[in-house]
Amino acid sequence: MNEIIDYFSTIPSSHRALILVGGIAIFWMIENVFPLFKFEYKKWNHAGINIFFTLTTIIVNFVLAFLLLLSADFAVEKKFGILQWLPELPLWLFALIGLLLLDLIGAYLAHLVQHKIKWMWRFHLIHHTDTWIDTTSANRHHPGESIIRFAFTVFAVLISGSPMWLVFLYQSMSVVFSQFNHANISLPEKLDTFISYFIVSPNMHKVHHHYRLPYTNSNYGNIFSIWDRLFRTFTILKKDKIIYGVDTHMKPSENNKLPNLIQIPFQKHRSPKN
Ligand SMILES: [Zn+2]
Ligand SMILES: [Zn+2]
Repeated sequence: MNEIIDYFSTIPSSHRALILVGGIAIFWMIENVFPLFKFEYKKWNHAGINIFFTLTTIIVNFVLAFLLLLSADFAVEKKFGILQWLPELPLWLFALIGLLLLDLIGAYLAHLVQHKIKWMWRFHLIHHTDTWIDTTSANRHHPGESIIRFAFTVFAVLISGSPMWLVFLYQSMSVVFSQFNHANISLPEKLDTFISYFIVSPNMHKVHHHYRLPYTNSNYGNIFSIWDRLFRTFTILKKDKIIYGVDTHMKPSENNKLPNLIQIPFQKHRSPKN
C-alpha cells in the first residue's frame, strides 16, 4: 500500500500518458475481436475527432493542475475535508472512502449537473453526439466541459480532504474504467450484469448514450455504480434497443464534423424530445 502511495504521489506525466494511450490501444484491439456492434464507420476518422477532444482535455487539465495540487495540499495541511476529520483508519479503508467521495462529487454529481443545467448541457452534449460509441469516446469532451469537470474535481478534493496521491490514483483508474465502459466490446451478459453491481459496466454506460430521454438522463456513474442505484438514476435498456447519439443532433453534418462540434455550445439551445 505504501508503494502505491509513493508511486502515485510522484507519478510522472509520461506514465499518465502511457496509461491513457495503453488503455486505448488494448481496448481498441479487443473491440476488433469481440465487437458489441458491427459498426460501418471509418474507425480512424472517428478516432481523429475523439482524440482531438482527448488532447484538449489533457491540455486543460495540465494547465490547471496547479490548482488541484494547491487544493490537496491545503486539505492535508489544514486538516480540511471528510477524510481529514475521520479518526485514523486502515490505509485501504482511507483510500476506498476517498475514491468513493471523489467519484460521487467529482464525477457522478458533475455529470448529473451537466445534464440538468442548460448552458452546461450544451458543452456536455458533444460527448453525447457520438453515434459510434467506442473506447475513443471516453474523453470526447469539449474544452468547456473539461473546465467544468475540473472545477468539480477541485470541489471534490476539498470536500473529501484527499491527498494528491489519492487524486492521481483516482484519475488513473478513471481513465481506464471510462475507456472500458465506452469500449465497443461485448461481455457475456451475466458477467456484465454481475459487475454492474459494483462498477459501471459497458452495457450500463451504453444506455446513457441512447439518443432519447429518459435513458440519456440515467446511469451517470463513472467508476462505481452504487450512486445510480442509490439515487434512483439507474435504468436498463436491452442492447438491441440502443441507438447512439442525441435526438437533437442526429445529422452527420452536425455530429461528425469537428468545426461544428466545437461551436455547438454557442449555438441556439435545442430541447430534447420527451
Ligand atoms: Zn452524459
Ligand atoms: Zn459516455
